[in-house]
Amino acid sequence: MKEVVKVVKAYEEAINQNRIIGSICNSCNELAVPPRPICKKCGSEDIDFTTVNGKGKLITWTTIHIAPPSYVDKVPYILGIVELEENSQRLTGMVVLPDGMEAAYKMDLVAGFEEAEEGARRLRWVPA
Ligand SMILES: [Zn+2]
Repeated sequence: MKEVVKVVKAYEEAINQNRIIGSICNSCNELAVPPRPICKKCGSEDIDFTTVNGKGKLITWTTIHIAPPSYVDKVPYILGIVELEENSQRLTGMVVLPDGMEAAYKMDLVAGFEEAEEGARRLRWVPA
């Protein structure tokens, strides 16, 4: 469990630096995003972190009208699943489009980073 906390912390720190990281397995070279403490392919715990390029395509999405308390001021917003260019890893996140632009299947997106409370940043997907 300690390892999981460490990995989550590293991921959050990277987001605060406007980067997305994954884990790369030193045994089989498998990339996982978000990072995992144990390789899902071979089970090795010998992993390192690596920065991914933050490019992907929108695979599916939904529009949220009823949000948890911290997101109430953002409704309606789009919650999407983005398939990354690198190793087809999938990340969920808020998709922010300019007014008048509609979400579309396989739309090109890039990771953007929005300032949140207390200097922390949040991952947002924006048009490429
Ligand atoms: Zn592995």
